[in-house]
Amino acid sequence: MELMYQSTRSNSEKVTASQAILRGLASDGGLFVPESIPSLDISLESISKMSYKEIAYEVMKLFFTDFTESELKNCIEKAYDNKFDTSEIASLVKKGDAYYLELFHGATIAFKDMALSILPHLLTTSAKKNNIKNEIVILTATSGDTGKAALAGFADVEGTRIIVFYPKNGVSHIQERQMVTQKGANTSVIGITGNFDDAQSGVKAMFNNKELAKALNSQGYQFSSANSINIGRLVPQVVYYVYAYSRLLADDAVKNGELVNFVVPTGNFGNILAAYYAKNMGVPVNKLICASNQNKVLFDFFETGIYDKNREFILTSSPSMDILISSNLERLIYKITGDDAQATRQMMDLLTKEGRYEITSAMRKQMSVFVGGWADEKRTAAEIKMVYENTGYVLDTHTAVASAVYHDYKQKTDDTSITVIASTASPYKFGTSVMGAISEKYKNMDDFALIDELAKLSNTEIPRAISEIRHADVIHNTVCETVDMQKEVEKILAL
Ligand SMILES: *Cc1c(COP(=O)(O)O)cnc(C)c1O
Repeated sequence: MELMYQSTRSNSEKVTASQAILRGLASDGGLFVPESIPSLDISLESISKMSYKEIAYEVMKLFFTDFTESELKNCIEKAYDNKFDTSEIASLVKKGDAYYLELFHGATIAFKDMALSILPHLLTTSAKKNNIKNEIVILTATSGDTGKAALAGFADVEGTRIIVFYPKNGVSHIQERQMVTQKGANTSVIGITGNFDDAQSGVKAMFNNKELAKALNSQGYQFSSANSINIGRLVPQVVYYVYAYSRLLADDAVKNGELVNFVVPTGNFGNILAAYYAKNMGVPVNKLICASNQNKVLFDFFETGIYDKNREFILTSSPSMDILISSNLERLIYKITGDDAQATRQMMDLLTKEGRYEITSAMRKQMSVFVGGWADEKRTAAEIKMVYENTGYVLDTHTAVASAVYHDYKQKTDDTSITVIASTASPYKFGTSVMGAISEKYKNMDDFALIDELAKLSNTEIPRAISEIRHADVIHNTVCETVDMQKEVEKILAL
């Protein structure tokens, strides 16, 4: 039976998985959701004997029902290969009283690699299935991390091009080096003189430009987006929650069916929503703990049932969680209304118009599996130091927010469930903040000197993603004014 997808904001249009992946966003502005979340059709016991790739197939085949077995397995093989520095793909390690699910073993040492390494293959397969002959041009604006993960995922994938815009003076030195040294004949990276919002607005304008779309089409191109609301990014993230439970079972850390907690450092609500989907598929979950930094709009939402983005935007040491509009929350809202697209649309309209909406008490009851928590900068730094001193393990700033939230939660409750913390980035990616939290003596040291210190202190090898950019040649050095973004795209594609 084909699983169809529809918008969170209307029931009128049903599309297949491959069409939902190609389109990214529904035409009414809603997000594509499956008509129902499928249940795992094999036992947890049998999953405990499977590899990451085997579990990936078992999960994805239930969501992407219009892909053949060989198409899906082919996508999985191409994605989860030696771009990852461990054959486990994700590692589950126990440190102190918690398990850390390391999602940072991919090409750019952050969890976005888990989905962005497979999305290009899902997209090109989807294009073929729908008889699209055009080359897919991925257009992305980035504040740092997503751009590099998308570049690494799409580099040299046949039938695709990728063009990334970043604010020239708005990303870290390491982030910029990661992008401008990107190899792959189909990749382009351009700095703009404006900020991230300018880059984002410029990209949106190109997506909405009908004349540009015509010009592209006449040259055999069409735009697509690698945005985190694409269902082709959400589903691959469900896999590692099933995988985490399978490893706990395999290690006899839990009895079959025993409930566990997942703690997820959250920004756009994609990662934790994937955990919620995993629970709905049959993974035994006690609590899903949503960890925020000082931009705690989600914590307030879980406390009060009111989502209110009208507040100060705070820059923190966990920048990938500095978000006031968590786009993927819309999929949870849809679920807790009982799949009511009209009610969902009304709330999303309120969010656009007033920056605020409130859910009903019946809806709040439907999301009782979630617990919100948050940690400020001081608490986060203290957690990095504490975990390092007690275990020798070094957390990145995002994971540290989750770890702090978990330890505070544990102190306040008598919940002794086995707990898995999603570890979303390697500490090497945020060396300055991480080392600064461990000791004053590392403050004001040069980026790469700090990396050498981090390797010594954590007794780990410097990841390839870092060592390779140290001496790599700069390949992309174009910088343009914000108003000239489209001209650059036209030049690259020879329109
Ligand atoms: C993107 C990101 C997050 C937030 O994930 P969401 O799916 O947006 O909630 C957390 N940590 C890191 C390191 C990230 O890159």
